[in-house]
Amino acid sequence: MTGERDVVVIGAGSAGLSAAKELERLGISTTVIEGSHRIGGRAYSEELLPGTWFDLGCAWLTDGDANPFAGIADRLGIALGRATWDAYNKPENHRFIRNGKRLGGDDHAACRRYYTDSYAAITAACGNGADAAISEVIDLESPCAPPFIESIATGWGVDVDGVSCADNVSSVGALGYPVPRGYGNLVAAWGADVPVTLNARAERIDWSGAGVVVETPKGTVKARRALLTVSAGMLASGEIAFGPGLPDWKLEAIAGLPMGTENKMGIAFDKDVFGPDGRGYHSVWSDDGTSAKVDVNGMGFNAVSVFTGGRHAVWLEKQGPQACRDFAVDRIAEVFGNGIRKHVLRAITTAWNSEPWTRGSWACALPGQAHQREHLARAIEDRLFFAGEATQVGGQGTCDGAYRSGVRAAREIAAALKRSS
Ligand SMILES: Cc1cc2nc3c(=O)[nH]c(=O)nc-3n(C[C@H](O)[C@H](O)[C@H](O)COP(=O)(O)OP(=O)(O)OC[C@H]3O[C@@H](n4cnc5c(N)ncnc54)[C@H](O)[C@@H]3O)c2cc1C
Repeated sequence: MTGERDVVVIGAGSAGLSAAKELERLGISTTVIEGSHRIGGRAYSEELLPGTWFDLGCAWLTDGDANPFAGIADRLGIALGRATWDAYNKPENHRFIRNGKRLGGDDHAACRRYYTDSYAAITAACGNGADAAISEVIDLESPCAPPFIESIATGWGVDVDGVSCADNVSSVGALGYPVPRGYGNLVAAWGADVPVTLNARAERIDWSGAGVVVETPKGTVKARRALLTVSAGMLASGEIAFGPGLPDWKLEAIAGLPMGTENKMGIAFDKDVFGPDGRGYHSVWSDDGTSAKVDVNGMGFNAVSVFTGGRHAVWLEKQGPQACRDFAVDRIAEVFGNGIRKHVLRAITTAWNSEPWTRGSWACALPGQAHQREHLARAIEDRLFFAGEATQVGGQGTCDGAYRSGVRAAREIAAALKRSS
């Protein structure tokens, strides 16, 4: 970690790794420091059972083949679930389960219509600088509101009263291909050729002189420019000290983009308990107020991912892994009956709200604050640069959005270095 480099990249998630690769391609000397013991950040896979992978963070490639990781996976020989996705992505595969009963016919159609109408209302609420919280523009009293509210909470990690319509509309990209062997594994394989100093968290960044000096437990790194790719939650935590402090406009951007929480529970079964008609995603809710999204067999395994978001996700996470597991199994039983319980083999539950390296799942703009993503992305005095999913408009909250932001920031740095030479 000695010797001055052109750039120090802070964080080795998708954004930091793509930036490092682009800087290398442009012939700019770079060092990457990562606080944790591994690369990948929020892209991280674990084996639920031998051969059955579960992604604790990103799992689906948004936008199919337009996603840069689709081409990367093909080059690395890592299979994508293209056929699985085609089978999964059908309107009839979105099931609505209320009080343990599957809605059919007109009731199913009414809920599908409610989703279409709600998205139209969200779109109509913004434009020309206007914005509102989603809760202000949808019909909260509809019998179909609970699953939609849950879908926003899981999609954004924040409940409808805290989600900006403008931010929602600017986020492009539908869920796309699954990665049966793990999106996290794909990112780790792709990033393996980037030299990264692990367990080297940036504790203090001094940018008072001509360059930057970054203090880590492993020593000091000097560079002409710094690129921060840590989450907005990490920036908000104050764990990285800046000298001088960040300007007010940057602090306002960070405050306008608080982290949401989506948690996932992966439940593996000893056999196919879902039946031939079981695959797909289920919006499950009860009149007592519980709700969740239940993805069945999306990766082609005998496994289910149960999602919860917003305040409930934060609360449930605090109850601990056993409570998360029980919540998930209860929701799956609402769809497939209590007989499934004896077939549960293993569970993995996430705890993103208290995850020390991210402080949440992704950044979600407060109503009226969607423009802060552009401010978060903007460099400070051509010296401190910013990337990461939160800086992206269109693709925010995604792994490919993070990738694109890293490439964007690398090119900005190249231009800045050219200006100063
Ligand atoms: C539950 C969940 C589900 C998701 N599902 C999807 C999905 O299906 N599809 C999709 O595309 N995206 C999904 N995402 C989002 C996607 O995972 C993220 O947007 C993306 O991985 C973020 O990449 P990043 O590089 O911006 O940040 P990160 O991956 O967070 O990388 C930042 C890195 O900085 C490191 N760091 C933090 N502090 C310091 C410090 N002080 N010094 C040095 N290093 C530090 C961290 O350890 C981390 O490795 C999901 C995320 C979650 C949590």
